[in-house]
Amino acid sequence: GKEIPRENNVAKIKVVVRKRPLNKKELSRKEEDIVTVYDDAYVAVHEPKLKVDLTAYVEKHEFCFDAVLNEHVSNDEVYRVTVQPIIPTIFERTKATCFAYGQTGSGKTYTMQPLPLRASEDLVRLLHQPVYRNQRFKLWLSYFEIYGGKLYDLLSDRKKLCMREDGRQQVCIVGLQEFEVSDVQIVKEYIERGNAARSTGSTGANEESSRSHAILQLAVKKHVEVKDSRRKIDENDSKSGRVVGKISFIDLAGSERGADTTDNDRQTRIEGAEINKSLLALKECIRALDNDQIHIPFRGSKLTEVLRDSFVGNSRTVMISCISPNAGSCEHTLNTLRYADRVK
Ligand code: ADP
Ligand code: MG
Repeated sequence: GKEIPRENNVAKIKVVVRKRPLNKKELSRKEEDIVTVYDDAYVAVHEPKLKVDLTAYVEKHEFCFDAVLNEHVSNDEVYRVTVQPIIPTIFERTKATCFAYGQTGSGKTYTMQPLPLRASEDLVRLLHQPVYRNQRFKLWLSYFEIYGGKLYDLLSDRKKLCMREDGRQQVCIVGLQEFEVSDVQIVKEYIERGNAARSTGSTGANEESSRSHAILQLAVKKHVEVKDSRRKIDENDSKSGRVVGKISFIDLAGSERGADTTDNDRQTRIEGAEINKSLLALKECIRALDNDQIHIPFRGSKLTEVLRDSFVGNSRTVMISCISPNAGSCEHTLNTLRYADRVK
C-alpha cells in the first residue's frame, strides 16, 4: 500500500484556514470576492468601507497561519495537510482533535465529512502492518452531538447521554454506543446513519445543525483478554478494550450562532448562549495547551469537558477555520480569522 508521509515533529497545535469558492447565488448577485490567499500561509481580507464623502475605500486586514488553503484546494489535499500527519501518532498514545470552525455556510461540513473516512482508511492500513498485527489493535467508532449543552448519541436513536469522570482524568460518556469498524465501507455507513440523525428540526438541515456540535471519534483500542470472569474490570476496558489513542472530528456549531443571545425566541437565546460559551471555552483550552499550562480550563463548557482527555498528555489539535469569500460575509470572516489568530 501507499506510505503515509511521516513528519518527525508533528506540531502540537496547527491552525489552518480554508477559503471556499463563491457559490452560484453569490456569483449571480455579482458579489465581490474580498479574500486573497498567498504563499500558502497568508490571507488578506479587503473590507469595503464607505467614507463620509461616499467614495469607497478598502481596508486591508492580513493574517498568517500554519497553512492557508485557497478555493482550488481539494478535500484530499486538506486531509494531507491537516489530519494525515497525525495518524501514525494515534498508535503512540496520542489523543488528537480536529475542529472545523466558521460561520454557517462557510464549508465546515463540506470540509469535515470526508476526513474521518480518509483517516479510517489510513488507520486500518496501519493496523495491518507487521509491527501492529500482533498487538490485537482494533478500530472503534462513535458519533454524537452536543445540542443546547446536552449529549445525544447519533448512532442509537438520539439517546440522551451523560458524562462521568473517573479518577484517572478519563471522561466516560455513559451509554455511548461504539462500533468496531474493520473497513472503510462500514465507516461510511455509520457516518451516513449518524448524519441522518443530526438535529434537523423543521427549518431544514443546515439551519438546525448549525446550532449543534457533531463529534465523531475513531479510537484505536487494544483488545483485553479477560481470563477471570469474576474479576471486576474497568468500564473503559470492558467489551472493546483499552484505548491506545484516538482522534475526534468536530463539526462545530456556526460561529455566528454564539451571537444569538438577544434573539426574541427563548430557546434560540439559550442555545446561542451555550454555543458562545463553548467556543470561548474551546479557545481558552487550546491557548492553555499551547502555553503548556498545567491547568486547562476544560470545565468552561460541555464541549470542552467532553474533550477533557484530549487536552492532557500527548495531544494534537488541528483547527480548520472555514471562511466565505463574499463581501457580504466580511464581518463573519474577520471574526473567524481573529478567533483563529488567538488560538495560533
Ligand atoms: P457549513 O457546514 O459551514 O454550514 P457547508 O459545508 O454546508 O457549510 O457548505 C455550504 C455550501 O457550500 C455547501 O453547498 C457546500 O457544498 C459548499 N461548499 C463549501 N465549501 C466548498 C468548497 N471548498 N468547494 C466547493 N463547494 C463548497
Ligand atoms: Mg454544516
